[in-house]
Amino acid sequence: MTDPTAAPAVLSVDLDAVARNYRTLGQVSGLPVHPVVKADGYGLGAQVVATRLMAEGARTFFVARVTEGLRLRDALGSQSAGGPVIYVLDGCRAGEAGALRAADLRPVLNHPAQMQDWTTAGGGACGLQIDTGMNRLGFRPEDAPETFDGLALVLTHLACADDPANPMNRRQRDLFAGVVGRYPGAIRSFANSSGCFLGPDFAFDAVRPGVCLYGGGPEGRPDTRIAPVATLTARVLQVRDVPAGESIGYSQGYVADRPIRVATVAAGYADGVLRAYSPAGAVWIAGETRPLLGRVSMDVCAVEITGLDVALGDPVELFGPNRLLDDAAAAAGTISYELLTSITPRVPRAYSQ
Ligand SMILES: *Cc1c(COP(=O)(O)O)cnc(C)c1O
Repeated sequence: MTDPTAAPAVLSVDLDAVARNYRTLGQVSGLPVHPVVKADGYGLGAQVVATRLMAEGARTFFVARVTEGLRLRDALGSQSAGGPVIYVLDGCRAGEAGALRAADLRPVLNHPAQMQDWTTAGGGACGLQIDTGMNRLGFRPEDAPETFDGLALVLTHLACADDPANPMNRRQRDLFAGVVGRYPGAIRSFANSSGCFLGPDFAFDAVRPGVCLYGGGPEGRPDTRIAPVATLTARVLQVRDVPAGESIGYSQGYVADRPIRVATVAAGYADGVLRAYSPAGAVWIAGETRPLLGRVSMDVCAVEITGLDVALGDPVELFGPNRLLDDAAAAAGTISYELLTSITPRVPRAYSQ
């Protein structure tokens, strides 16, 4: 398909908005921004997003998996050819250290076995993760190495930054501050997206945001300075009148209590329109917010359009500027991260500058 916007469902990505959010996060934190582009850039396309952010000045990126790092390295070129620094948050699993080194990727070392593997493979520039309370990945402060050859960056990850009043934030900050003194040459990387908004006490050397670059809030709507980036649009496949008493979709998920008009829309859970939207989901159609009716099926969903002027092929916004990503996520009982990373490969991505 040459024109992705002609597809039944399309994910439009506003790269200018990504660039604006990148600058905003830099201004708010007062620090260099090292974008997180794991999970294919939160589903929006890591290569395209990173290429644009490099044009904005980004020189260091984070991915989760080694495979993501290899792909990004291929796309952006080696560091000697002007490519960026790429950190892999997983670190290196046994046997992978050589491949990381060969691709000029830097593992974020999380435990002693990874340090050993990296050293055995020849070592070199790497990161280190300190676990300051999330109990997920990294060394506890008391177990952190005194020094490590090649250590270029040390990070920790906030568990509750979306709740600025939570004392956990300061506890994590203080634990991190207490250990990073050991690594005088290393960049101290602290804040994720919501951490960027915690204030100067929480600034170290660089920030590491993901979701706010892509227009999402960590939990609930993002700061008002963050611009929407992604729009999921689908097309109306059929319009019908449903008499009172009849049901719509699988399991009679909705029963009309009055005569209604219904649009069947070409987007379902195989596109990333979560089944969990039922019963609270809504879309933007013909200038109004209207409810989804009944179950989302694999390829289609149903929208109530009584009284609206809707024609075949009309666009329906599942999320975007009129139906905010975080509101859509909340309706499905989830967060923007999951909504974005659930958009499947069947949905073409269309980029605007
Ligand atoms: C995913 C991730 C981030 C980015 O988090 P956001 O909340 O999306 O800004 C930063 N650091 C680590 C270690 C992560 O896993």
